[in-house]
Amino acid sequence: MKLKPPKAKGPAALKPVAAPKPGDRVIEASFLAGAKARDQFPPPVMAEIAFAGRSNVGKSSLLNCLTERKNLVRTSSTPGCTRQISWFQAESDDHSIIHLIDLPGYGYAKRSKSERVLWGELIDGYLLGRTTLRSVVLLIDVRRGLEEDDAELVRMIESPPTVTRPVLEVVLVATKLDKLSRAEHKPRLQELSRQIGRPVLGFSAEASIGRVALWRKLRRIAGVGYQEEEAPAEGSQLQSSQLQVVPFRNEPAQGT
Ligand code: GDP
Repeated sequence: MKLKPPKAKGPAALKPVAAPKPGDRVIEASFLAGAKARDQFPPPVMAEIAFAGRSNVGKSSLLNCLTERKNLVRTSSTPGCTRQISWFQAESDDHSIIHLIDLPGYGYAKRSKSERVLWGELIDGYLLGRTTLRSVVLLIDVRRGLEEDDAELVRMIESPPTVTRPVLEVVLVATKLDKLSRAEHKPRLQELSRQIGRPVLGFSAEASIGRVALWRKLRRIAGVGYQEEEAPAEGSQLQSSQLQVVPFRNEPAQGT
């Protein structure tokens, strides 16, 4: 009896990456610096990839998963408690180094107006004034989609920088993919991509889905990856005019 080849499960974007490549593994990861104001930013010495998203979107968990550490970045059940920008350094097994920047989460309703102004100044100063910034990874909850404050952040990223540097690449990542059934992964990611007008990568820190694909993409953007590792991203720069706020379909993403 001839055995049928196993049926491919799940969407192409979520297929396990075939063979490990140099640089896939993170051999060293550490906290470098924290800043609550612009004058505390460390010197711009290396390509930086920043991570942004609403409080509780799963940013700390994603950073821990990406760097293959349990507690490099403190996850929290209290949204909005991180008010500083944090710099982390990750060294891959090919000894290349990338700096990962954890931006404070936004959209936390209980924050006072003055806190929000300070947040805006800090983020603005970093996103528009950092010469070494190469990409912003914007995290959205796969169930919530792109919300107004996410779109606002993209508009801020697209405003003219105060320094000379290459155009920033915005990478959209939908977190907590494991909250959907496997059959829903592909249709939901396609729906989000269509609505936002930009490819959306799926990710789950809980189920470790999407780690290698995202890591390789970020390495390429940072200038330490291998060209052949990933298909070129469709489309070009994210245009804020194309952004659509996606209505929240499921239950509120409070907690998890
Ligand atoms: P942050 O505020 O954006 O840094 O979010 P955290 O990483 O602290 O996560 C917020 C909450 O979401 C925590 O309760 C996490 O356990 C949960 N969470 C984070 N990532 C995932 C994921 O991939 N799947 C699920 N089911 N929960 C997650």
